[in-house]
Amino acid sequence: MIVFTLRKNIRNTVKKLKEAGKTIGFVPTMGALHPGHLALVKKSLEENHRTVVSIFVNPTQFDNPDDLAKYPRILERDLHLLEQTDKDLLVYLPLAEDLYEGNVKAKSFDHGGLDRVMEGAYRRGHFDGVATVVSLLFDAVQPHRAYFGEKDFQQLQIIRRLVESQNYPVDIRPVPIHREKDGLAMSSRNLRLTEPMRKEAPFIYQTLLKAKEMAEKGMKPDLIKENISLLYEKSPLRLEYFEIADEEHLRPAENFEPGKNYRAFIAAYAGDIRLIDNLRIK
Ligand code: AMP
Repeated sequence: MIVFTLRKNIRNTVKKLKEAGKTIGFVPTMGALHPGHLALVKKSLEENHRTVVSIFVNPTQFDNPDDLAKYPRILERDLHLLEQTDKDLLVYLPLAEDLYEGNVKAKSFDHGGLDRVMEGAYRRGHFDGVATVVSLLFDAVQPHRAYFGEKDFQQLQIIRRLVESQNYPVDIRPVPIHREKDGLAMSSRNLRLTEPMRKEAPFIYQTLLKAKEMAEKGMKPDLIKENISLLYEKSPLRLEYFEIADEEHLRPAENFEPGKNYRAFIAAYAGDIRLIDNLRIK
C-alpha cells in the first residue's frame, strides 16, 4: 500500500500506471471506514487493475461547523483496514491547502435543480462543496472509473450530472447500500450513536419498508408521506424530511408514473446525530 498526500505525486503515479496500460478505479471517502465503504473498494478492485482510495473530511461540504468538528476521524484504523483489503491500494490523504491550491472554498455549480430538494434544501451549500471536492479529486487522480454509494443517492445523481456537464472522462459506478443486520444503513456517523439511540435507529429503515408496502398497495405519494410522518411523532427520532421522488430528476412525486423508478428518502436525527437513508419503492 502506498500513501500519498500531495496531488502532484498521486497524479504522476497514476499517469505512469495509465501509460503502462493499467485501468484506475477511484473511491473517494471521508474515512471512519466501514463495510459499506469496503464494498466500493472491492467493486473497484474487481473492475480495475489498480484502485485509489482517498480519505478526506472535506470542510467545504459541511454547513454546520459542529458536525465538521465531531465527524469521526480514525485514520490509523482506516489504513489498517485498507491494508487488509488489498496490499496494492494507492491511498490518497489530501492536505486541504494542497488539494484546493490554497483557496479552501466551494465553487458554485448549476446542479440542474437536483440540489433544490432534500439534502440540498436542508444543508445549504452542501452540494457545491461536494461538487468542488469531487472535481478537484478527479483532477488529481484522473481515474477511469469512480465508485459512489447509493446511500447518498442524491449525491450520486449530482455527481453523474457534474461528470456529464464538465465532460470528465470518468465512468460513475453506483454501489447498493450496505446495511447492518437490523437494516440500519452503515454510516461513519453510526459510531457516534449511544446504545439506546443505536437501538432506535433501525426504525428509519423500517419506515422505508413501510413506505414501499404502501406504494405497492397503490397508495399515492402524498398519503404515504403523511402516514410516515405520523409514525415519527411516536418515535424518539426526529424526522427532518421524508420525501418520495423519481430517481432521475429527484422531483417530489405527485403520482407514480409507469415506467419510472421512485425512491423514498429520509433524514432523521437521533439526538444530535443526523442519519440519512433511502429505498427504491416503485
Ligand atoms: P463518506 O465517507 O460517508 O463520504 O462515503 C464515501 C462513499 O461511500 C460515498 O460514495 C458513500 O455513498 C459510500 N457509502 C457510505 N456508506 C455506505 C453504505 N452503507 N453503503 C454503500 N455505500 C456507502
